[in-house]
Parts: sequence; C-alpha cells; structure tokens
Amino acid sequence: MGKEKYEFKAETKQLLDLMIHSIYTNHEIFLRELISNASDAIDKAHFESLTDRSLLEGDENFEIFLTPDAEQHTLTIADNGIGMNREELIENIGTIAKSGTKAFLEQLKKAKEENKDLTDKEMIGQFGVGFYSAFMVADQVTIVSRKAGDAQAWKWESSADGSYTIEEAERVERGTSITLHLKKEFCGKEAEQDFTDPYEIERLVKKYSDYVRYPIKMDFTFEETPKDKDGKEIEGAEKIKKVETRTLNSMQPLWTKNKSEIKKEEYNEFFKHQFHEWEDPMEVFHTKAEGAVEYTALLAIPAHAPYNLYQTDYEPGVQLYSRHVFIMDKCKDLLPDYLRFMKGLVDSPDLSLNISRELLQQSRELRTIGRALEKNILKALARKLKNDREAYEKFWNEYGKSLKIGIYNSIYSGSSDTVDKLKDLILFLSSKEGKLVSLKEYVERMPESQKKIYYATAKDKETIEHLPQMETLRDKGIEVLYLLDPVDEFCLETIHEYEGKPFHSISRGDLDLDDAESQEVKKETEEIQKDNGDLMKDIKEVLGDKVADVKVSARLKSSAVCLVADEAGPSLAMEQTFADMKNPLFKAKRILEINPHHELFQRLQQLHTAGKDSQDFKDYCDLLYTQALLIEGILPENPVDFANKVAKLMAK
Ligand code: ADP
Ligand code: MG
Repeated sequence: MGKEKYEFKAETKQLLDLMIHSIYTNHEIFLRELISNASDAIDKAHFESLTDRSLLEGDENFEIFLTPDAEQHTLTIADNGIGMNREELIENIGTIAKSGTKAFLEQLKKAKEENKDLTDKEMIGQFGVGFYSAFMVADQVTIVSRKAGDAQAWKWESSADGSYTIEEAERVERGTSITLHLKKEFCGKEAEQDFTDPYEIERLVKKYSDYVRYPIKMDFTFEETPKDKDGKEIEGAEKIKKVETRTLNSMQPLWTKNKSEIKKEEYNEFFKHQFHEWEDPMEVFHTKAEGAVEYTALLAIPAHAPYNLYQTDYEPGVQLYSRHVFIMDKCKDLLPDYLRFMKGLVDSPDLSLNISRELLQQSRELRTIGRALEKNILKALARKLKNDREAYEKFWNEYGKSLKIGIYNSIYSGSSDTVDKLKDLILFLSSKEGKLVSLKEYVERMPESQKKIYYATAKDKETIEHLPQMETLRDKGIEVLYLLDPVDEFCLETIHEYEGKPFHSISRGDLDLDDAESQEVKKETEEIQKDNGDLMKDIKEVLGDKVADVKVSARLKSSAVCLVADEAGPSLAMEQTFADMKNPLFKAKRILEINPHHELFQRLQQLHTAGKDSQDFKDYCDLLYTQALLIEGILPENPVDFANKVAKLMAK
C-alpha cells in the first residue's frame, strides 16, 4: 500500500487550530501528555501479555525513551507499548470520535462568548485532548508504530494543515515513536524554551512524570578528555564523546512512602500526573490498613467535577494494584456509584494478580476494602460539613448531585442504608437567608407547631420566590427548601421523612399548616367551598380533563389562582422532568385552586349566573387555568388561543 492522504474531520481541524494558535500558555505540558500516552500503551501491552505472552516478542523491558536532537530540531518519544495498526492510527489519532472533545469545543466557544478568561488548567485535562497538545510546540508530527504481534509497521504524518498521511513503515521493536518537528520558538539556545536541551527535558520529566511506573530514559552525551592508565587526563589529547543512558524518573510509587514523609505538593503532583488532573485535588485520603485485609489506598476528590460525570460515557472507578504492580484501571465495583467522582488507587497484596476482571470484581477482599473506604470518605465529608462549611459547600456545588442521585437510585439498587448514610450530607438552598441548609438545620429551627418540611420545586430561585403559594408561607415565617435540580424532588421522595417530619411540596395537596390562624383559614375555606360547590363543579366541567379538581384555595394571598398537584401522584415539576425524558407516563393530577378573596372570584360568581355554557364564563375558566400554568412555568398548549382570549377581554 502506498502513501495515502486523509482529511481531518471538521472537529479535529478546529481543535488543531486551537492548538496551533495556542490558547494555552503552558506549552511544556505536551511532554506529560505524550509520556502519559506512552505509559498507557505499555500498561495495555502488559495487561494483554498476561493472557498472551507471545505479544511481548521476548522483550519484557518496558520503557519510554526520549531523544532530543538539536541539529534536526526534533524530539522523539518512543515506547515499547501496545502500538497501533493502520486502523487504530486513523481511529485514535486521526479522528476525534470522543464526545469529550466535542464538549470541550462547545465549552470553549461558550467561554469565549462570555469573554471568560480560560486557563489551560481548567480546560485540557477535563476533556483529554492529550495527543493534539503536540501541535502546540511542533509544526509537524510523525508517528511510527507497530502493533504488538503484527509484522507491518505504519507511519502517520501531519503538518496540522487539515490532512494527514499514512504509509507503510519499518520498525523492529513493537510500540510507538512520536517525533515532533519543533517550531523555531522551541529549539535552540535562543529559544523561549528549548525542548532539545536534555537538561530541560530532564527537569520536565521530574516535574510532571516522576511517578510513571516505567523507566523514562534518555541518552546524555559528554565530552571527555581521554585518561591514561593511572586515571590522569592526557594533556593535549582530543576530547572523546561518551554516551550515558540515564533513567529520569524515580518510579517510586508515592503511596508506598510513609505518610509523614509526603509533602502536600507531592500528593498534588501525583494526582495531576496519574489521573490527568489539572488542578490540585480538593481533598486527599491516604489510608493504610492492616487487618483481615491489608491495603493502602490513595484517593482524592478532584477540584472539579468532570463535565460528563452524570453521562453514560463517564467511566468511574479507581485503579487496582497488587504489591505495587498495576492490575486494573477504573475498577467501578470498589466504591458505591454515588462516589463516582473519586479518583485514586488501591494497592493490596490480598488482591490476586492472576484472576480475571470479573472474578476480581466479585472478590470478598475487594468488598471489604470498598466498605472501609466508603466509611472513611463519608466520615471525612461529615467532618468537613461540621468544621469547614465553606469547603463543604464547595464540595457540594461540584458533587452534591451525585449524592442526591445516589439516594434516589437506592430504591433500585436495594441498598436501603444509603439513605441513612447520605441524608445528613445533603444540602438545599432555602428561603431563609438564601443559604444552603442541611435537613438537620432545617428541622432544628422549625417552630413547634410545624409538622412538615416544606419544599418548592422550580428551575430557578426566582420562579419559586414568585410562586403565589410562597406568600402565605413567607408571612408566617415558614422556611421552604428550594428544589432546583430535577433530581431533588425524587431524592426527597426517597428519603420520605427526616426525624419523623415528612416532606411536603408547597404545590401539592393541602399545606397542612397547624397554627391557629391557619386552622381558622382552613375552616373558612371549607365553608366557602361548600357555598360555591356548583361554581367549582362547573369550572371543572368546562376545563374537562385538564384538571382533576377545582378548589377554593387556602394558600393564596394576592394571586388569583394556582395549580397544585394531588397529594398522591407526582408533582408538576416531576411531570415536567418525565416529559423532558420523553416519558409522559407520569402525569400529575392537577388541581386548580382559586383565591376566594380575589376580586376575580366575585366576577366568576357573577358570570356563572349566566350558566356554565355562557361563552364568557368558559373563556374566563380557560384563562384562569392558563394563568396558573404560566405561573408554574408551563407553556399553554395553544398560545394563540390564549392570546386571542386575552385580547378579546382587553377590548371589552
Ligand atoms: P487519551 O489519552 O485521553 O485517550 P489522547 O489524545 O492522549 O487521548 O490519545 C488518543 C488515543 O491515541 C489514545 O487513547 C490511544 O488509543 C492512542 N495513542 C496515543 N498515543 C499512543 C501510544 N504512544 N501508543 C499507543 N496508542 C496511543
Ligand atoms: Mg492521553
């Protein structure tokens, strides 16, 4: 097969453009990216060789080799990892198939539109555009790769001009060499930063890649004056060149060191390197346990939640090691799903190297370790909530949703103790001071006459604050939790009650307020309801199956109407969530409540005297209902009809 030329996809081009016109100031990180890819490729070779030794072709000395060349203006990163065949070069390098990159580009566009200043820290790592970072420093990149077990090697080449070529190549060792043809700014003594300088490369490897578990080697060339047999330099002799291969990284796994000997920066650097993070982690857990099961765990909560934490393409899980030997990436059976944001690793001599993934995931040891770690993490979170509110709220803003989903999902997973474990860790915004509160805080300060925990659901705070029902509660000083995320209501429904106090949506059923005044209003409302039974019945008839019931309201102050849901079924907000998920199965039973003290009420009574079939009465009923919908943030099914009716009324 000869040399073939391919066009990059539009997205890839876009990404390459970004790299070339360097939106990032921290150019040197390209080296860490390429070394990390090399190390991943060696992991894969190692892993696959466990079942097929022949793949190693007799070469078991895994290593990464760096070759800076000042004369050629190149830097080559070579590994003897798994390598890539022709298809894989096209798939993995030539195309950006990963949804993450798309999200990255969108995020970037958005940030630009909002004139936000982006730092590289915030961006690349989250989206893993690793390989392409090479184009920050190189104007041409050549890859030569031979897949372990294949005879044929391939050469991939691109100058980032919208296309790349692939052709047959020769390569003796398995694995991949990536040669960067460095831009002027990045080679030579005059350069901004010289990536052909071995000492600069050494510095970068130590800074970013010290823990890589395979040796990263480089040749250093010295000039030496020849010596005589007594070891004395021979005067006047011509200097000779000597080459020495050195390993640049220490390779000592950080977690095997003593906790007291590890500096915070070391933990930070480790996590950034090992888990492709760009910012220091929010919290690090380093635990050693000796007991029934012996293990060391080094876990962290990253500074930010990845953009896809709740999407199906997110792969949770921690790394597993046995006696410092890597067994598995992303073991998702160690920690419960609600801790899916945790990054890190567990090293245990009790985990067997040689059993299959499936068996390993079911192993008793793994479960024991997982449970102990879960407990530690939850304890640490509870401590944070108690002692460092600001830090906890930062955590909550990044990962709170994960805990709430965890509570909700416990219905399905059958892990009934999840609710108990998590209910004291969740926070909601509340009507009191507009701050986040825990359920405990809410219950502790509620007046004695209050029997329920009230909440309201909407897309944003403003909508809730303008809900007609809020007025009464605000006047009575009753705190209301704001449920702003679709999962919130499902979460509370799952918790069911807190310290014997049931949750109650202010848009659902009766408000059930117990103070004397409320009781009074309730009685009065019941009377008005009785006196206006026919009116209510006829409004309901006009509205047909749009509503399940029409009632005189005890919860309204200045607004004329509101829509509430029946006690038993899902709320209106839940209905909207289901509708968004294209699951119209769950329909809230809508109850239209009318304020008997509003002028409109009298008008209705008046119109009603003409009978339920009068056009004016019908129009009024319809308008009332649509108003109530709009207040809830739900658009009327027929906006034109609504507008026409309003216009007609205005013209009167
Ligand atoms: P990521 O490492 O997050 O997957 P990259 O852009 O860094 O993203 O790399 C893209 C893909 O290219 C990798 O997932 C891998 O399949 C392939 N790749 C990159 N470098 C190498 C290498 N040295 N050896 C084998 N495969 C590689
Ligand atoms: Mg990578």
